[in-house]
Amino acid sequence: MTRIWILLLSLCMNSCHSQEWSYSGETGPANWHKMYPTCGGENQSPISILTTEAEEMAMLNFTWTGFGDDPPNGASMTLSNLGTTVQVNFTGDYLISGGGLTNTYKATMLHFHWDENGVHGSEHTLDEVRYPIEMHLVGYDFEKYDDFDSALSHPEGIIVVATFLEITSEDNPNYSEMFTGFNSVTYKGQSYQYPSPFPILPMLPYNTWDFYRYHGSLTTPACDEGVLWTVFVQYQQISHDQFSNFNTLMSNFEGEENVPLSNNYRPVQPLNGRSVYRRIDGELAFSKSTEFRINTWMTCVAVVLYYWTTSL
Ligand SMILES: [Zn+2]
Repeated sequence: MTRIWILLLSLCMNSCHSQEWSYSGETGPANWHKMYPTCGGENQSPISILTTEAEEMAMLNFTWTGFGDDPPNGASMTLSNLGTTVQVNFTGDYLISGGGLTNTYKATMLHFHWDENGVHGSEHTLDEVRYPIEMHLVGYDFEKYDDFDSALSHPEGIIVVATFLEITSEDNPNYSEMFTGFNSVTYKGQSYQYPSPFPILPMLPYNTWDFYRYHGSLTTPACDEGVLWTVFVQYQQISHDQFSNFNTLMSNFEGEENVPLSNNYRPVQPLNGRSVYRRIDGELAFSKSTEFRINTWMTCVAVVLYYWTTSL
């Protein structure tokens, strides 16, 4: 009998706490590492990004396939309340390449981090500024792995593309369609399928060529590392009215005592010597280095010619 209890207990230790994390108190970010050891790792996200500390790196522009007005064949989008965030899941070939990525990545979801007042809910900070909201577009290496789960924890298996959102008085029409689903996902576990997919590219900043890049982790347990981060410099905007949709969401199941879903951001994590890069134009850098090589070569020829002619 004792053996059965030990067996049940060990099974429970492995699986029973799989969802028991939150953003405050005993199960909050400061204690995540007790349940999920990787959350105490050396390469965690988010981080504080400082422009003066960033190194320049030449990279090409991103190529966004399927993100514009023409969605990929057979694409669909579903909004879900996960209790810890609100997430849009996609099916279809939403593909990201370029942007310093070695392979093509398939985006499968986007979700948000925010605070209840719409003031400082972003996860990353940029030059010590914390934005009201941060949107994460998440993808996996489509060339190496079959799906998101098999890409997890592998170096650069997962990418997260982060967009900061400011709150203004003007509605952002590029977000209107997404918010239409919010009143169908008030409670944890609820989901809503959009009648047709909406374009994602206009939800990103107009300028997707100026960004920071570093190696980090998922910002929620189990905090898997190996994640390649892109954080855009330019931010997007939504209105106060649009932001109020976030405040209708609850982190509990329907019928339970209401606990608003908000303040779902992890504090910044130590950099531990990691480099943070800021993109400079890859083609420009290439042409400059080619120019440099040609100039060096011509100088050598001139020096040889000079000595040759003076020795005659
Ligand atoms: Zn996130």
